[in-house]
Amino acid sequence: MPTVVVIGGGIIGCCVADALAEAGVDVEVLERDRVASGSSGLAVGVVESQYTDPGWIDLRVFARRAFDALADEADIGFVRSGYLRLGYADADVALFARSVEHQRTLGVEDARVVGVAEIAALVPSLRTDDVAGGLWCPSDGYVDPHLATAAFAERARARGARIVEGCAVTRAERAGGAWRLETTQGARRADVVVNAAGPWANAVAALIGVAGDVSPQRRSAIQVHLAEPLSAVHPFTMNYIPGVDPYGAYVRHEAADRLICGLHSEDLLDPPSDPDDYPRGVTQDWQEQLAGQLAFRFPGLADGMAFGEGWSGLYPCRPSREPSIGWRRDVDGVIDAVGFGGGGLQSGPAAGALVRDWLLHDAPVAIPSAASLAPA
Ligand SMILES: Cc1cc2nc3c(=O)[nH]c(=O)nc-3n(C[C@H](O)[C@H](O)[C@H](O)COP(=O)(O)OP(=O)(O)OC[C@H]3O[C@@H](n4cnc5c(N)ncnc54)[C@H](O)[C@@H]3O)c2cc1C
Repeated sequence: MPTVVVIGGGIIGCCVADALAEAGVDVEVLERDRVASGSSGLAVGVVESQYTDPGWIDLRVFARRAFDALADEADIGFVRSGYLRLGYADADVALFARSVEHQRTLGVEDARVVGVAEIAALVPSLRTDDVAGGLWCPSDGYVDPHLATAAFAERARARGARIVEGCAVTRAERAGGAWRLETTQGARRADVVVNAAGPWANAVAALIGVAGDVSPQRRSAIQVHLAEPLSAVHPFTMNYIPGVDPYGAYVRHEAADRLICGLHSEDLLDPPSDPDDYPRGVTQDWQEQLAGQLAFRFPGLADGMAFGEGWSGLYPCRPSREPSIGWRRDVDGVIDAVGFGGGGLQSGPAAGALVRDWLLHDAPVAIPSAASLAPA
């Protein structure tokens, strides 16, 4: 069995460790800071499969089942708020119908297309006069990103993985068919290295001597205090269709008197941010843009609302809008698990299973369609 070092202790690295340790592989995660100190700890935590691209749906359905199972063993703060994606044209509704059809083939029974009357009943605060339909799944929801990442890390440890915090990889050298890594806590040797460094993926690729194409895109979210408390959990509502809209607002429940809202986009809208040096707060411009979208689309919430604490993190995006998972072809003994964009938290368990499959079976057995995500 090959020995493995995973660089990066975010959700991806911890899920890779969990899957490898379960399969009996000797695996060590090296995290330069703390588990979930990167993008994973800044996520909003949404876990769902109401997507439109079949390949991404395959990853998300696999992963949601893993979150369901983990929630039975550990407190990951899983709130099944439901997930609603809004559409405005017949073409959007046709896309949603294809998503539902694909999800059915994977055994998801409760996702469905909903009409305007049902949308208005689900989210009374919404303006619906221009809405054509929605993609809805009541059992989707959100987890606490710190609790979820820590729970995968704990389970990986219980299965025999070593997860070392405060340990930065500073140099990598391939010699005698193995990797020798220099770190801030001594040298390591491993047959295989997994790059799970999220927004730092290009820097880790450079250490290994190859190029990376991850573009860290700064995205923000903010707490929204409501004038009137909600009488029920607010369904997660996404006003964005991948590949159709440039960006859109989302609303996530947090408490009866509080939501978390943000603007989502999977496109490379900005030049790449430096993961070691980018503004962590939210700009006035961004707040105005979000306030405008909320006032227009959610008039029932926007009346009397007030913004609270906001923050920014990085989506580790790739130009293809897809992650890279599998053996690199330009160097020996390296598996990529990078580029999960705005969907990395909810993709973690799928990434773990795929890295395990590439390592042990040289094929993405658990999710065969993910063969197309292997590095070119
Ligand atoms: C505002 C916001 C909201 C989001 N909401 C969601 C959501 O609702 N659902 C969802 O699925 N996704 C969401 N995301 C996206 C998600 O956060 C990311 O896709 C995901 O966290 C990426 O995980 P990762 O493990 O690849 O990266 P990270 O969590 O960044 O982990 C990489 C780790 O590598 C470590 N590292 C880097 N270099 C080295 C080195 N040389 N040596 C050792 N360690 C190193 C870093 O310290 C870091 O901890 C959101 C992101 C943001 C910013």
